[in-house]
Amino acid sequence: MPTEQQAGAILSIDLAAIATNWRRVAELCGGTKRCAAVVKADAYGLGVAKIGPVLFSQGCRMFFVAHIAEAIVLKTLLPEGSNIAVFNGPPLGTEADFTAYGLIPVLNCLDQITRWSAHARTFSDPLPAILHVDTGMSRLGLTAQETQILREHPELLEGVSLKLIMSHLACADMPAHPMNITQVKAFTELKNRFPGIPGSLANSSGIFLGPSWHSDLSRPGAAIYGLNPTPTKLNPMQTVVRLQGKVIQVREINLEETVGYGATYRACKKSRIATVAVGYADGFFRVMSNRGNGRIGTVRVPLVGRISMDLITFDISALPENTVHPGSLIDLIDLDYTADALAAEAGTIGYEILTALGERYYRSYIV
Ligand SMILES: *Cc1c(COP(=O)(O)O)cnc(C)c1O
Repeated sequence: MPTEQQAGAILSIDLAAIATNWRRVAELCGGTKRCAAVVKADAYGLGVAKIGPVLFSQGCRMFFVAHIAEAIVLKTLLPEGSNIAVFNGPPLGTEADFTAYGLIPVLNCLDQITRWSAHARTFSDPLPAILHVDTGMSRLGLTAQETQILREHPELLEGVSLKLIMSHLACADMPAHPMNITQVKAFTELKNRFPGIPGSLANSSGIFLGPSWHSDLSRPGAAIYGLNPTPTKLNPMQTVVRLQGKVIQVREINLEETVGYGATYRACKKSRIATVAVGYADGFFRVMSNRGNGRIGTVRVPLVGRISMDLITFDISALPENTVHPGSLIDLIDLDYTADALAAEAGTIGYEILTALGERYYRSYIV
């Protein structure tokens, strides 16, 4: 990571807000034991090395990642007593790595089940696993029919101790969507085929659908990182991320002069342009060219011209002369122009904004 002086932008990540957000959702789920944390993709791009231990300190003991490689890294970051599960399950030939690192695979198909069971039968004690049943995503998980096969052939799970039956909601961010009811019903039906095994259904938005969706363990990600789990309402979570870009040059342009590649912005009056050392290589999407804005103090400054690989330009004419100079900071993501707001303008979702945040920022963790 560059130093604060070297970097083109400062990314502040509020660990206290992350702790508050996790406690908030855990409380909604009925306590810390009923709430996991999804920390895949480096904790949604915000840094699992810092965030994992903070969540543990709040009482989180169940962590989900997507890949086994992420789980192996996480294992070294968390204290004893934490459980780490891998959504994508065991890739062929990695079964022994799961046991070597004490990881729990999510078993998503009959092939993964067969391989995990074969591996487990070489041990005297049963090996843990989570069973994923599909209730409408058509992505991962056993179909209802495959679940039935599994019930009729319990030997397929020989040596395996099922810790959880899970499924994933497709439309939880749209509370009125009929899929939410369909999926919770299908899940209850499938889960009942495995008496005594706890269930897990809700992601962040699923938690806010209400207790009927909570099952025994929820799996929030986005809400922990301050994204709005209730897009149709005000965000109940605390903001976690602030991104401040550094001005590296200020210049005056005349009427009719243009800014940036393609000369897509033409000044309709004499203007002052501030160039900031952040670009699409830092995850600041090029689609934001001539869209959106930054903030200096209380003043919104429009983003003008194309976003380049390493630079963005803002029209700062609204500010008094000599108030902005090299080294000045422009807020690119902040409390009132959140990752969700930026995403809406870029035609994407806050998740993509966070996971794209670049490696060239100086990262400041607020405790
Ligand atoms: C990413 C993921 C989650 C977390 O979803 P959020 O919307 O970020 O809360 C939960 N479950 C599964 C299976 C996931 O892939």
